[in-house]
Amino acid sequence: MTKRVVTDSMIGMRMPDIDQWSDLVTVVLGQNPGMFSGPGTNTYIIGTSSRPILVDTGQGIDAYMPLLRQALRERGAEGLQEIVLTHAHPDHNGGIAHIRAEFGDVQITKKPWPGRDADLPINAIDDEDVVVTEGATLQAIWTPGHAWDHLCYYIPEDRALITGDVVLGAGTTVIPPDGDLGDYIRSLRRLLDFDADVLYPAHGPRIHNPREKIESYLAHRALRDEQILDGLKAGVTTIPELVARIYTDVPEYLHGAAGMSVDAHLRNMVTEGIVRRDVDRWFLA
Ligand SMILES: [Zn+2]
Repeated sequence: MTKRVVTDSMIGMRMPDIDQWSDLVTVVLGQNPGMFSGPGTNTYIIGTSSRPILVDTGQGIDAYMPLLRQALRERGAEGLQEIVLTHAHPDHNGGIAHIRAEFGDVQITKKPWPGRDADLPINAIDDEDVVVTEGATLQAIWTPGHAWDHLCYYIPEDRALITGDVVLGAGTTVIPPDGDLGDYIRSLRRLLDFDADVLYPAHGPRIHNPREKIESYLAHRALRDEQILDGLKAGVTTIPELVARIYTDVPEYLHGAAGMSVDAHLRNMVTEGIVRRDVDRWFLA
C-alpha cells in the first residue's frame, strides 16, 4: 500500500524576507520559523495604493517591523488601509499590537470568532464579502476546519488564492483539537471551484499547480482514513498505537503532531458513524 501522498515538508525550508510575487502582491516573512510554521508566517502587502492592505500580521516578532517598513517603502507605500486576517491563530494575529503602534489604529477585518479574537474592535466580514483596495479585490471564502473562523481570499486580478493555513507551500495542514476534518475537506473542495492560477499560502512558497496540490491534500486525507480503518480492523484501539503503525517513516519527535492528525480523523469518523469512541479507545462502529 502507498505509505504517503504528500512527500514534501517545510522542515528546514528557507524563504527570502521580502519577495514581490506580482505587481499587486509582496510577501514579507514574519520571522517566526518553527516546526509548524516552516520558514515563518507569510504576510501579504496587497494593492497599488500608498496605503495597501496587509493580510496577516505574523506573531509579533521585533525583527518583522523593519522588514514590513522596508517592503512598504519599496512599493511606494507609507501606511496601511487595514489589516485583513485569515484566522485568529497567534502566528497570524500576534503582530497586531506592533503594527498599530507603528501605523496608528489600523482597522482589523476578519470573520469574528467570539472568545478567540484579540480584544479589539473588528470590522466583521463573512463568506463572499469583498474587501477592496486600489488595484486589488479580496473575495472572502469561509473555509473552516483548521480554524472555525478561517477565511481564504480570492484575488481575481491575479487569479490568485490566499489560502492561509488551509493549503501550505509544503507538507500538510494541522487539524488541531478544536478543528474539524469534515469541515476542512469540504473547504478544500470549495477552493477547487475557484480554478486559481496560483495559491499564496500562509507558510512556504507559492503554489503554481493549485488543482494538483489541492487534490493531493484530499488524497492524503483519504489515504489516512484508509490506514486508520485498517488499523482498527486489525484490533488496534489507541491513537499512539495507530501512530506507531501508520507513521513508520516519520521521526518520533513528530509523533505528537501525527497523533493530533489521527485524532482529527477518528473524530470525523465518529461524526460519520463509522467509528465509536470509548474514552481513549476507538472501535469500528
Ligand atoms: Zn492556523
